[in-house]
Amino acid sequence: MCYSSRIVKRMLKDTLTAVEMNRGEYGEFVLRSGAVARIELISTSARVIRTTLQRLKVEEDAARTDYCFNCVLRINGREHTLEREVSTQRSFYEPWEIDGLHIWFDAVEDIFDFLAEAHGECRPRKHARFAIQDATLGICPEPLHPWCPLPEGGLKIENCYRGEDCWLGAYNGASAHGGLDINHPRGTPLWAPIDIDDHFFFNSLAMGHNNNRWRGIHRWPNGAEWILQAHHMTELTVGEHEPIAKGRQFARGAGVLSGAVDHSHFVFKIHDLGETISLDPWILFRQMYREGSGPELLVQR
Ligand SMILES: [Zn+2]
Repeated sequence: MCYSSRIVKRMLKDTLTAVEMNRGEYGEFVLRSGAVARIELISTSARVIRTTLQRLKVEEDAARTDYCFNCVLRINGREHTLEREVSTQRSFYEPWEIDGLHIWFDAVEDIFDFLAEAHGECRPRKHARFAIQDATLGICPEPLHPWCPLPEGGLKIENCYRGEDCWLGAYNGASAHGGLDINHPRGTPLWAPIDIDDHFFFNSLAMGHNNNRWRGIHRWPNGAEWILQAHHMTELTVGEHEPIAKGRQFARGAGVLSGAVDHSHFVFKIHDLGETISLDPWILFRQMYREGSGPELLVQR
């Protein structure tokens, strides 16, 4: 491997930076202050905490597997161990704040030692995946409108389908869940969290698929694109390809192929510098809870 291929160098933008790294690679991230934070991925690992499965990677109806994963990062010469837990309530985590950075530790490839990738695209293409931002900045330069009515008091893992389908949660105990499910009744309004420049169903009942799957795209002036997806929607309420202003209802959620519990399935990807990287939609929902919601948008439970 040539020396330069081991370096990811990024000027941090006013929107979140998604990055994947192999062990031994390092990234240099330029903060607003001009300081450079150097991050090297030293190691990664993952392990099952508990499972009800007879055999790993073999789905059983309503089975449950909880796991944890970690990495060691050397940041500006000092080592830090980051550890996450999925699919417990701790799946809804806070970013680490280290040396002027916010670091979201999204995934490690090691989880696919015991999970299948059979429930949506979510496997990192390198050993670990992160989202990084200057700690003085938000994940984007404007408030986000709630994507759907926000459950009061925060997201609860028990309201993610059958209590497991957060981002990378183990669907039926065995398959990494490539999205975040939020249970709500058929027809629940979905609103645009940000202005949507283009949108369409990439799968639909009308086209002969078994589900309605929507994709909306927002292009930031800095060149990054945010790709938002919602699946299981009952219907669109704004015509395909028509721009949608932030806050406008664009669909009725849940209800189509939504299984044992009606829910919407949310997906978040960032496309920038020729790469598309999937991230935990919780990053968006956390921001909506922090700054984008009015009490009228909260659902009583
Ligand atoms: Zn789902």
